[in-house]
Formats: sequence, structure tokens, C-alpha cells
Amino acid sequence: MPHCVTLPTPPHPGIIPRMNQVKIKVRPQETVQFPGLCVHCGRPAPASMPIRKRIGRTTRLIDVPLCLDCAQELRRQSADEERLQKIGRLVSAALFLLTLAVVILLTPASLAFLLHLLIGLLAAAGVTAVSLHFFRRAQTNAALPEKKAIRRSAQIAAFSWRATTFNFENETFAERFKEINESLLMET
Ligand SMILES: [Zn+2]
Repeated sequence: MPHCVTLPTPPHPGIIPRMNQVKIKVRPQETVQFPGLCVHCGRPAPASMPIRKRIGRTTRLIDVPLCLDCAQELRRQSADEERLQKIGRLVSAALFLLTLAVVILLTPASLAFLLHLLIGLLAAAGVTAVSLHFFRRAQTNAALPEKKAIRRSAQIAAFSWRATTFNFENETFAERFKEINESLLMET
């Protein structure tokens, strides 16, 4: 297998640098051991960042180590992110009220008022959830480049009931991770 090279920065937006893939034997309830290094920059890591992967109806959530600077960077919001957050809340709240009103008006008058209200609330909750999801997506895309890079630095590529495959951008981190999980390594 050719040696994996980690590119310093993607040459074009959208092109993700080659990853260091590591597969280890781990069951869903077991804890994954990570080196005490930031998964993004390799400095000492007292903080953490959750990474998740959804396959079908199962979601795997794992905390990877992060240094304080990168953790702070993750909390920073770009102006666009802030704007989208505010607009998202306003639009979602307006959609909630609008859906509630329309559904209450449109459901047959023969139904009890409480039933009108219940159907209206359910529909409004559904519409609001879709709206919030849409805006959260847009917010993720509007993040600062540095924040995107940190999020990209570790990913769960795949998982099963007995194994999890990680992608690490930082080669040093990937090597240290392999060292401490040597007995659990599997072929990717
Ligand atoms: Zn860091």
C-alpha cells in the first residue's frame, strides 16, 4: 500500500485532504482510548469534540481530544452563522404559529377544540423541526474555514457492532492512536 500523505491545505474548496484511516475493534458501549493530543493540531488536549456518524437508525457518538485553542475556535461564530441563527429562530417561531393557526382553521369544525389544538401542535412541531434542521445545516456551511477544518480533522468513517473506522487528518495523531490501540487494530 502506498504511504499516505496528508496535504497541508486543500488545493480547492471541497477537496478533502487524504485521510489516515484506522479501524479498531470496539463495541458500541466500550470507550475508545485516544492519545492526549489535539486531533487537529497535536498540542496537549484537555478539551474534547464530539464526532458522530449515523448509519440507518443507529448513531455513533464519540468524543475526540481537542486543545483549548481549537475548542475556542469551535465556539467562535462567523457573522453569517450568527445571522442564520437569529433568522432561523425567527422563521421557525413564525412557521410554528402559522402552521398551528392554519391547521386549527382547516381541521373539521365537528372535532373537539382540544383535538384541533393537538393536531395543530403536532403539525407545527413537525414544520418547526424541518425549519430548524434546514437552518442548522446552513449554519454549519457558513462556519469559519478554521472551524470547518477542525470539524473535518476527525471523522467516523464507518462502524459496526464490533468495530469502528476513524479518519484522522493529523498523521501524528493517527500514529499515536494506532500505538495505544495496537492490540485492537483491524485491516481497513
Ligand atoms: Zn488544537
